[in-house]
Amino acid sequence: MPKPTLDESFAQNPPSRGPDQRHRWLTAGERRFILWGLKERWPAVRIATQLGVNEATVRKFRQNYSQDPSLILELGLYEMVGKLVDDEFKCLVCEDRVSTRQETERHLLRHFLEQEDVDFHKPPAKARRKRGTSAGK
Ligand SMILES: [Zn+2]
Repeated sequence: MPKPTLDESFAQNPPSRGPDQRHRWLTAGERRFILWGLKERWPAVRIATQLGVNEATVRKFRQNYSQDPSLILELGLYEMVGKLVDDEFKCLVCEDRVSTRQETERHLLRHFLEQEDVDFHKPPAKARRKRGTSAGK
């Protein structure tokens, strides 16, 4: 069974904590919801209010993943859909199909980070090949 996209998970059914759970750590599902909210251009305060956490918690998560994008990559936001010449993956944020895991991770991060930050944390595979290619010509 295909995994649900972020829209399928949250557009109709946004999660909400009880008041007694306000100070718990963010779960993986809640982190996915925050990313969905940011994708929908919700302000942090709206995401926090819906979820039932402090606005600072949302801002802190955003700050943390900017410095450590593995926090995004570990949330299972893409899935393998094919394996012909290259592995093919489906992005669960926008449903695009992308070849190779490296490019898929770069594609996924691009939804939430600036291009230069993506390049810094996940350099494109081509950059490493470039030298050999140009030397061969
Ligand atoms: Zn995407």
